[in-house]
Amino acid sequence: MKCFPLSEGTYTVDQSKNFIPFNSATDSVKDRPGSLLVEICPFLIISEEGLIIIDPGLGMKNEDGEFQIIKNLSQLGYNSTDINIVLLSHLHKDHIGGFAYDENGEMKPMFPYAEYFYQEEEMNEALSKLPSKSFDESKLLFLKNREEKIVLKGNTQLNKNISCEISGGHTKYHQVFWIDLGNEKYFYGGDVLPQGSQLIRKFAAKYDYNGKESAALRMQYGKKCAEENYACLFFHSSVNPISKVKYEDERFVLIPY
Ligand SMILES: [Zn+2]
Repeated sequence: MKCFPLSEGTYTVDQSKNFIPFNSATDSVKDRPGSLLVEICPFLIISEEGLIIIDPGLGMKNEDGEFQIIKNLSQLGYNSTDINIVLLSHLHKDHIGGFAYDENGEMKPMFPYAEYFYQEEEMNEALSKLPSKSFDESKLLFLKNREEKIVLKGNTQLNKNISCEISGGHTKYHQVFWIDLGNEKYFYGGDVLPQGSQLIRKFAAKYDYNGKESAALRMQYGKKCAEENYACLFFHSSVNPISKVKYEDERFVLIPY
């Protein structure tokens, strides 16, 4: 296995776009009306071209005051300086928050030797929406002004293993990643395909830029993953963040991987 989930845990989020930690043992969703329950799950991929993080998450600290993503990496035997590539599907704060942190008013990169990949148009669009509860302005600007970044202009083959494809749907220039490591293949659909259950329970989400487009894309990507044997990576799924997909009798079946 060359892909590992780096879960930051479970949160509720409502209209305010604040992510509040949720402990299933002590908390109840009923006490948080109008909230969605979501997992935040970045991924680590080990490739010949280096170590890759996909969407570094919120950048939350755990009870011991450590960044959860760094703790997760250390449990796998890695640290922040080992990461070479950070892929960003889109720039919402729950996806990019963990790329940097504020230390006494100064922004620092979480992965100091990594190059960050994002779509140029996604950045322009995000900046045009400020101020917005969906974005962290200081992190957006830190990313834009950082030297160690690769600004993508449309669909691109990033290296031997990875290609990106603009999907739209969730945000105007949201991108998905196809990762082919030879003997293992992974698809990251970001917030166009954030949970496996969304392949089974079809719906258009209000939080999407274009909910109908997103819903149609999920089906299209799910079918391609089934046909070409890609494992899907689900950023917001509380169960089975990595699953293979089968498509039989016009229905999807998820197989935990
Ligand atoms: Zn999003």
